[in-house]
Amino acid sequence: MEDHNRTVPKLPIPGKRNILITSALPYVNNVPHLGNIIGCVLSADVFARYCRLRGYNAIYICGTDEYGTATETKAMEENSTPKQICDKYHAIHKEVYKWFNISFDEFGRTSSPQQTEVCQTIFKKLLENNWLSENTMQQLYCDTCERFLADRLVEGNCPTEGCNYDSARGDQCENCGKLLNPTELINPRCKQCKNTPRIRDTNHLFLELPLLKDKLVNYIETTSVAGGWSQNAIQTTNAWLKEGLKSRCITRDLKWGVPVPLEEFKDKVFYVWFDAPIGYVSITACYTPDWEKWWKNPENVELYQFMGKDNVPFHTVMFPSTLLGTGENWTLMKTISVTEYLNYEAGKFSKSKGVGVFGNDAKDTNIPVEVSDTLFTWSDLQAKSNSELLNNLGNFINRVLSFLAKPPGSGYGSVIPDAPGAGSHPLTNKLAEEVGKYVEQYLEAMEKVKLKQGLKTAMSISSEGNAYLQESQFWRLYKEDLPSCSIVVKTSLGLVYLLACLLEPFMPSFSVEVFKQLNLPPEQASLCDEKGDMDKAKRPWEILPAGHKIGTPEPLFKELKIEEVEDYRKKFAGSQADRLEREEAGKAAKLAEELKKKATGFNLFAALVLILISSDGCQFEPITAGKFISTLFTKPNATVGGKKQQTKKLAGEATSRGTAEPEISITRLDIRVGLIKKAQKHPDADSLYVEEIDLGEGDCRTVVSGLVKYIPLEEMQNRKVCVLCNLKPANMRGIKSEAMVLAASSSDHTKVELVDPPQSAVIGERVTFPGFEGEPDDVLNPKKKVWEALQVDLQSNSDLVACYKDIPLTTSGGVCKVASISNGSIM
Ligand SMILES: [Zn+2]
Ligand SMILES: [Zn+2]
Repeated sequence: MEDHNRTVPKLPIPGKRNILITSALPYVNNVPHLGNIIGCVLSADVFARYCRLRGYNAIYICGTDEYGTATETKAMEENSTPKQICDKYHAIHKEVYKWFNISFDEFGRTSSPQQTEVCQTIFKKLLENNWLSENTMQQLYCDTCERFLADRLVEGNCPTEGCNYDSARGDQCENCGKLLNPTELINPRCKQCKNTPRIRDTNHLFLELPLLKDKLVNYIETTSVAGGWSQNAIQTTNAWLKEGLKSRCITRDLKWGVPVPLEEFKDKVFYVWFDAPIGYVSITACYTPDWEKWWKNPENVELYQFMGKDNVPFHTVMFPSTLLGTGENWTLMKTISVTEYLNYEAGKFSKSKGVGVFGNDAKDTNIPVEVSDTLFTWSDLQAKSNSELLNNLGNFINRVLSFLAKPPGSGYGSVIPDAPGAGSHPLTNKLAEEVGKYVEQYLEAMEKVKLKQGLKTAMSISSEGNAYLQESQFWRLYKEDLPSCSIVVKTSLGLVYLLACLLEPFMPSFSVEVFKQLNLPPEQASLCDEKGDMDKAKRPWEILPAGHKIGTPEPLFKELKIEEVEDYRKKFAGSQADRLEREEAGKAAKLAEELKKKATGFNLFAALVLILISSDGCQFEPITAGKFISTLFTKPNATVGGKKQQTKKLAGEATSRGTAEPEISITRLDIRVGLIKKAQKHPDADSLYVEEIDLGEGDCRTVVSGLVKYIPLEEMQNRKVCVLCNLKPANMRGIKSEAMVLAASSSDHTKVELVDPPQSAVIGERVTFPGFEGEPDDVLNPKKKVWEALQVDLQSNSDLVACYKDIPLTTSGGVCKVASISNGSIM
């Protein structure tokens, strides 16, 4: 019955909440990439699962965005056709998401006949309604290849003074990072045939957004309120409106795309920004021929769209304008959910060129950039996994189940006891009241797509459960007051069940496992009002029936050891990802398999979700073990919020210890976490302190620092610091200084602050720079000026994190920070 139902596409049901969920279509050539793809895919998945648990009629649609220059270029490079490229990568995407258990109702692709049909139909409507205009543009044309050259198909010398790199691309010089127009290149060449292209006129069609403004503003004003758009989404959208809507080109001189159905334009295709969002519709059309019941039914369907922040204007301005322009009754987006970027510890994780629905066009969008990205570190992951999953959640559930499973005489022989009078048991009543409140908060948060808040609240219920167990002293009650003990046990079991339901959207495999241990079918998980689930949550002792026999309790999580974490860190270090980037997809699949065996159940998966959830300043940035696969395909850095950065060559910068003087690498510095045991004024110099610093070496080192002017003596005492340990010792006014304490200085040098390792950093541990590996020099040779060369790139960033370039000084307890000086120089 269940299976049969699943194969029948869901259609909106009158009188029910019908929810259509989409996440931004990942660009096909970029195999799932953490920063924004898994990010928004997973957020949408959490929401979709929540909706289904609530009994809403929800479908989740996604797929690969396949058209555009990038695919054509890639096909050329790999000597295959765009279709072959897409087939290959679409399969990889599908596989990866399957591995993550993403609950798509349909994961399709934009290169389908349905896409052509829907896209051309929408286009014809816009044409009929006079929202399109024709205009001439100038573009480089290669006479040999007989085609217009997309930006990236042109190479030439960089026009930037002092750079003059000879293989600058038409859109960007990879050497100096400058954004370019192809016509700016000196000596432009066709990438394919190396001949010199010429500038030629080409006609294109434009969508007259300014004419659609009134309709659009009306939509935005009503929906942004009703749909509870975030302040961010509203601001970004308003920035676009304020700047004035311009007409936007919707066609391109390419072959790989939806053909423009007009004789005069028959050699052109639709620009990817125009056709990609139509992919949501056409993929739904692949799911069901009755797709219009979802997409042209705004009275009965709520559309929730999930995306990375770059894509906001495409979903709040362009796509709605396109749909409004048809004059038809489309289901327009009600609620938008925007994911921030995630920075991987080895550098930027975030979006690289060509990622996301409209990634290719990030350059011409002028989307405002705001950086509040979250940093992912393996040590954080370890801490979260151990504290939240193992000690809080895992501990609570296991404690309850194993007690129940104990044989009669010390437990209940796995059978849930009856618990009369639970409603008047004071401690249980207090708990029920708390839990009831949390459940309400959970629902409120989840309804507003505040997923992070929802998860936090659910975890609080687990904490309440632990406190309840502790306070009740159930192990004593068992002997002294069995009826009360039974109340505590039955109530706690109800909480276990409730937690499995509340956490199902976030950690589905965890939920399945808990249901198994409870000896209940996982399909039973539900949070429906109609079934009274939410009501029962307020009387947890009523959730599970007396007499039910549970399965075998087993620990749900296992401790993540520092060695394991180190192992993962190494395995997925940026340099390796870089190296593997171009290797075959088969490798990734193999690694995925290996990880499946290695990953401790859903431990890592869950921890990865959690870590993001609890990081501040980010709405919801879930990443999953997906990172494992995706890092293989992903450069550890690239474009951030439309601003392109120069590609860092992490691998190349790693220490190479050859016979000659090794290259300057940050790993040559021996920076360690130290504890100032004692600090005092230098007897012979007013500006200097003398500190005794414990660096885990047994004896303390003596260090002299010129900090008297900036830091009061009492603040120097008993404080963890970052210490550069391999400078050549220097005599300072009669006292030998054996190391240097790192501090940040404001640009006008009026303020100096110590670089603080996190409280949990271990004394003596080496401060690392993720992505860089290598042993430090024994002593830095002062003649080679290694420290001086590296120091210029040591800075505190705008989030007050101490960084080398943009890589944080990292310890097992997290990154090192300064108190208030942003963009300060560290020395
Ligand atoms: Zn350049
Ligand atoms: Zn050519």
